[in-house]
Amino acid sequence: MHKNKLFLYSSTILIASFIVLAPIEPKVSQAQSGQNNATGISDGIHQRIEEFKETMLTILKQQAQVKGLSYTVPPNFQGTTIKAAKLTSSEKVIALTFDDGPWPESTNQVLDILKSNNIKATFFVIGQNVKNYPDLLKRENAEGHVIGNHTWHHWYQFMNEQTAAYEIERTAELVNRITGVKTNLFRPPGGIMDNGVADYARNRKYTIILWSSDSADYSRPAVPKLIKNVFRKTKPGGIVLMHDGGGNRSRTVQALPEIIAKFRNEGYRFVTIPELLQMEDKDRSFLAKKNSEGIKQEATHP
Ligand SMILES: [Zn+2]
Repeated sequence: MHKNKLFLYSSTILIASFIVLAPIEPKVSQAQSGQNNATGISDGIHQRIEEFKETMLTILKQQAQVKGLSYTVPPNFQGTTIKAAKLTSSEKVIALTFDDGPWPESTNQVLDILKSNNIKATFFVIGQNVKNYPDLLKRENAEGHVIGNHTWHHWYQFMNEQTAAYEIERTAELVNRITGVKTNLFRPPGGIMDNGVADYARNRKYTIILWSSDSADYSRPAVPKLIKNVFRKTKPGGIVLMHDGGGNRSRTVQALPEIIAKFRNEGYRFVTIPELLQMEDKDRSFLAKKNSEGIKQEATHP
């Protein structure tokens, strides 16, 4: 309890330092450009601020690593990007994923539907929404769903390493503080892979999860169209993109029971992202074993 309080306290200071220090930088740079004859002093301050920010960032990262439990993601998948699992077994599995929450009303509605159907899904959450609706995140975790990192602000623009770090680490730290989970799954906002944020996640060994089937529910299509979108590219091992947050998701909520029923009719079973990755890993090891046995057999029976 005491440790937890200390952690909360130090993290709050760290986050506050980030916020306070961020706007100082451009002013100091201006001073550096020669308008000020105290350039030497400014240089010193600038350097100290940079060092301080770097130290704070390192501490934040270390704290995130030390605390909490990670999902079981096979080592082969760490730092890689996944659109769907490549399964050799004929089992029909599908992973439902929900982005941009937690969100009032729709997150609870999605959770109710999943609960009544006994399905575990994966939620890629936005840090600032987690801050506003921590109880919804708690519910997701308590009901056995998996939580992935979807950045703090859901920005699309280019991010330097410091901004990317802030977007990811601040979200990770808050998710961890609320649930005890140290997530190792990341989905870049908009699926954008080249604005710096995915690179940061990859370098930190996150598994980057994209999707194979896009409901396009963010454009609020009519319910039958939304369902059609989901099933257009459905295949075993697939990942379905939907949204429980970020706007009015009443159509997603309306379509979800029918999507679930349709998958079940087609013989699908629902899995979380870590379960899906574990299945592919198992299939890979089985294939590798089979291949090496085949080679051995060839060697002994020419
Ligand atoms: Zn998103």
